[in-house]
Amino acid sequence: MDRFQEAANELQHKLIPYQKNVTLAPFTSFKIGGVNPLFLQPENEEQIHESINILSKFGIDYKILGGGTNLLVSDHPDDFAIIRLSGKFREFQQIGDSSFFVGTAALTTPTFRKISLMGFTGSEFLSTIPGYVGGAVIQNAGCYGGELFNLIDYVEFIRDGGEIRRQRKDISFGYRMTEFLQKKDSIITGIALTLQPGDNLKIQNSLNEKREKRNASQPENKRSAGSVFKNPSLSDHSGHPLKSWKLIEDAGLRGFSKGGAIISPEHCNFIVNFRNATATDVDYLICLIQEKVFHFSGIKLTREVEYFGRIP
Ligand SMILES: Cc1cc2nc3c(=O)[nH]c(=O)nc-3n(C[C@H](O)[C@H](O)[C@H](O)COP(=O)(O)OP(=O)(O)OC[C@H]3O[C@@H](n4cnc5c(N)ncnc54)[C@H](O)[C@@H]3O)c2cc1C
Repeated sequence: MDRFQEAANELQHKLIPYQKNVTLAPFTSFKIGGVNPLFLQPENEEQIHESINILSKFGIDYKILGGGTNLLVSDHPDDFAIIRLSGKFREFQQIGDSSFFVGTAALTTPTFRKISLMGFTGSEFLSTIPGYVGGAVIQNAGCYGGELFNLIDYVEFIRDGGEIRRQRKDISFGYRMTEFLQKKDSIITGIALTLQPGDNLKIQNSLNEKREKRNASQPENKRSAGSVFKNPSLSDHSGHPLKSWKLIEDAGLRGFSKGGAIISPEHCNFIVNFRNATATDVDYLICLIQEKVFHFSGIKLTREVEYFGRIP
């Protein structure tokens, strides 16, 4: 019996929801990813602890999957298990006059749209970001001048078998970066945040304006993982911040394709899976962009999209 089957037997015994041999492509916005041997869906903290104990007993590495909207998953993700939070972690609740506790398996867009429509302002930008709240926390997701960590009071997470609550002031974070992303040693389970009561009409207008802005600037409903590269923290000769899409365009790569993947003609910092692309196709374009942009501008672009498993 292989170690994944042995682990599965114990998961079954402990009544922890899991599936074997799951194709990961449907769980990612790229729609790329091969078959994974063990996909766990713990529904509460106790099940998370038990899952980790069982996996470590059989020497199985694991990765946390949220909405899969910032990931390039291997075509052969067969040497690790997936943990995807479910159950109570999908919920959010109001815990004070204008504060909320949000589970990290809640979907970011509908959750923050609902909270905004309850008459609270400050989180409207989040209603345009796909994926789960956990993925948004780990990389301090943001857009249109807003960043999730500016709203957070505290984060709850599991690390080294302990359940920890840490105030924002004690967490290091920055542009698309947190200590959780750097260390990869925690499972984020929830966040508390405080918003401001606002005017319903203004909130509705703000939601509409941000949605329209996004529709106008990004390839809509296409298979991508959003911006592939972070913007460099540098300015051009006129003092304007440099944008990765512009550097990619200037390197002559707009619309360049490999296999089923293409550098989006609409937004050069997006790679789109237009026809059965593999992780290897996308990786080829990512490496090409890094090489050409460096050649033309001397700038090393840093990936925002994360790799899951061996690629190529
Ligand atoms: C069309 C499109 C537009 C986008 N626009 C934006 C944007 O404007 N701004 C922006 O910041 N991002 C944007 N993104 C990227 C992405 O949507 C965000 O980064 C999102 O917050 C990722 O969440 P996720 O649940 O999909 O994470 P995943 O892709 O599933 O995972 C990302 C990382 O988070 C880790 N992770 C996930 N959940 C947990 C958890 N509970 N505990 C510990 N680790 C966890 C994973 O292990 C992985 O390392 C966009 C993506 C797309 C496809």
